[in-house]
Amino acid sequence: MRRILHSQIQKGEQLIKLLADLDMSELTDVVISLGEPKYRAKQIMRHIVAYDSYDEYTDIPKAMIEKLRESYADKALVEKTRAISSDGAVRYLFETVHGDLIEAVFLPHNYGNSVCVSCQVGCGMGCVFCASGYYGLQRNLSAGEILSQVLFIAREHKANGGVKKVVMMGSGSPLANYDNTLKFTKLLTSDNGINIGMRQLSISTCGIPDKIERLAKDGFSGTLSLSLHAPTDDKRKKIMRIAERYSVKELVSALKKFFDETKRRVVIEYILISGFNDTDGDISAIKSLLGGLCCHINLIPLNPTDHCDLKPTSRKRAYEFCNKLTSMGLSATVRRSMGSDAAGACGQLKNRTIEQK
Ligand code: SAH
Repeated sequence: MRRILHSQIQKGEQLIKLLADLDMSELTDVVISLGEPKYRAKQIMRHIVAYDSYDEYTDIPKAMIEKLRESYADKALVEKTRAISSDGAVRYLFETVHGDLIEAVFLPHNYGNSVCVSCQVGCGMGCVFCASGYYGLQRNLSAGEILSQVLFIAREHKANGGVKKVVMMGSGSPLANYDNTLKFTKLLTSDNGINIGMRQLSISTCGIPDKIERLAKDGFSGTLSLSLHAPTDDKRKKIMRIAERYSVKELVSALKKFFDETKRRVVIEYILISGFNDTDGDISAIKSLLGGLCCHINLIPLNPTDHCDLKPTSRKRAYEFCNKLTSMGLSATVRRSMGSDAAGACGQLKNRTIEQK
């Protein structure tokens, strides 16, 4: 039942849906179907965006709130625990109305705070270095469940600037949950909603070529990041199961089409794993693969996880690797890692919470 209903739960005989799943026109239809005036939709949307609970809907008549409550849950998530890092990053573990656990992270920045959201419960991609996929995929999150992570965190950090940027880099594979991801991008950027600019949204993918092309055609104009992590198919297959299905050449060709459609430079994420993908031979292979693509390469020294014994490249080698790429004319930087003292890699806080039980 849990897998089938996505954003709905069985409560007694009734299905409970989430208010946060509704866009303005769907919310207006709900308000009209309850026999209420249309303008109530705008008021309710303001409460959804503020992540209010029904008892905070003080401008809505009690009788209408009771009618809403019968079918819709006001909150998609409750906080189970949080881990605060010395650099100010806060990793939240949320429980959904289904009882599933998901993670999201608040990252403070002078130029605007960002939030990293999850789009699935678990992940089915099985990348060997990633803690999110360790227990496999449980289910897709609905658009409202993804959005609620942003709304919750924006409310928590309202006093220090709220949220300006969103990255889909938590647990799960956004393009494997395509429809909900697309709806989420629309809810997030709607001027009736939290109104975050599309340019402030990044989607990270392990690489599904047809979905990359579709995303551009469906009007996504944020940043697309590809988790490449190895420049050849043979090497990529050793660490990422998705490489059995799609070649690096197919991926780069999809990224070129994405760029042609959106004119948005893509980001290549490249985890540095000691002795595996950080040799000079890898640098030449990266150059021949990515030479003709408008992209920026983000080098990320591997964040060690509990279930994987790969080792990170040293900081010194990471900078050397980066300099060699830039001297070949590629754009590359070594990413500063935040929150690593707060179970910093995707999925680790959840796994540790489950394993402690
Ligand atoms: N599912 C998305 C987002 C994953 S998290 C995707 O596959 O792109 C964001 C980035 O962190 C991805 O590039 C992912 O591969 C990387 N990542 C995952 N586990 C990591 C780890 N242990 N250390 C460093 N980066 C990691």
